[in-house]
Amino acid sequence: MPFEGFLPCGPTPRGQPIRHLYVHIPFCATICPYCAFHVHTGSASEMRVFLDALLREWEGVCRDYPVEAETLYLGGGTPSLLPLDAFLRLAEAIHPWEAREATLEANPRTVTPEKASAWCELGVGRVSLGVQSLDSTVLRTLGRRHTPEDVKRAVCTLRDAGCRNINVDLLFAVPGQSPASWHETLEGAIALGPEHISAYELTYEEDTPFFRARAAGIWHEDENRSIEMYRTAWRLLEDAGYRQYEISNYGRPGWASLHNQGYWKGNDYLGLGPGACSTVGLRRWQNRRQTDGYIAALLAGQDPPREQEPLSEELRQRERLLLGLRTSGGIPASWIGENSEDVCALTRQGLAELSDGTFRLTPEGRLLADGIAGLFI
Ligand code: SF4
Repeated sequence: MPFEGFLPCGPTPRGQPIRHLYVHIPFCATICPYCAFHVHTGSASEMRVFLDALLREWEGVCRDYPVEAETLYLGGGTPSLLPLDAFLRLAEAIHPWEAREATLEANPRTVTPEKASAWCELGVGRVSLGVQSLDSTVLRTLGRRHTPEDVKRAVCTLRDAGCRNINVDLLFAVPGQSPASWHETLEGAIALGPEHISAYELTYEEDTPFFRARAAGIWHEDENRSIEMYRTAWRLLEDAGYRQYEISNYGRPGWASLHNQGYWKGNDYLGLGPGACSTVGLRRWQNRRQTDGYIAALLAGQDPPREQEPLSEELRQRERLLLGLRTSGGIPASWIGENSEDVCALTRQGLAELSDGTFRLTPEGRLLADGIAGLFI
């Protein structure tokens, strides 16, 4: 269980610089009924005050840790909502804009020619668009305000501004979404020509209107339909030249997300902003999910309220195994004993492959990744 009171500081245990930085911007134009992230609405002036606090946290982090971010991920929330002046301040303050990969999450409706040009000029090389669906009915169910036309316009605007790396986020197993609708969304997304497509299964997170609707029996999950939709995504995307390198992530060769791969390899990372999580060595902490408290503490010269979760080498190794099994890179076979009965059975059933000392699940096996991980931890 998380507990309070410990404030992490000092260099990383191995003295290594931290290579991955996440920045949480908690503002959204409206709140989607399935979303469980720490998000809320806010005015431009509230965003500017938030940024004052965020930059204080950044200064503190730089004092405490050697940060040489190879990857930067501006997530949320909707970072593309930030007014341009606030974005400029953020860009000037956070040096890792020269990171090998800097990603910004954007809502299609917020992409304007001015913003797109500024993002690209300031080093955002990758824009992740929260598309979710190209079916207006599904978008309405999800509470999204953008339209399929907004998505096409956003992609054109980003390309015109010089953006060479676009990700499109999609959701499947949405209530009322038919297999045909999912098929058309995938084809439409491929036709947009992004470098990367993420296809996530909708999950019913606690304390969301979707969770309550399911608990009330208004909506039902259909596991078989979800599995079919996963297989449809895999087939269409692979046929179109995208490679599944994690259960929900597909990239054209050379365009896999470096930031996410850092998480899946179990690398250390730092997170800024309310609700953001950091893991350094055997220390993991999370800023409380309260923007007001976060701002008040930082502007008063204190650290933001945080909770710490104790880690052990064993736990981190278990996480690496679990995450590695979800990826096409797999895990070293030595972690699980390559001659064990379980390994032989999984390879015989076509759920896993063993080659060159690496154990990896097949696309079918990845569907069962959590259960299979349970055999080895
Ligand atoms: S736009 Fe994204 S982050 Fe914002 S409420 Fe919707 S799902 Fe959550």
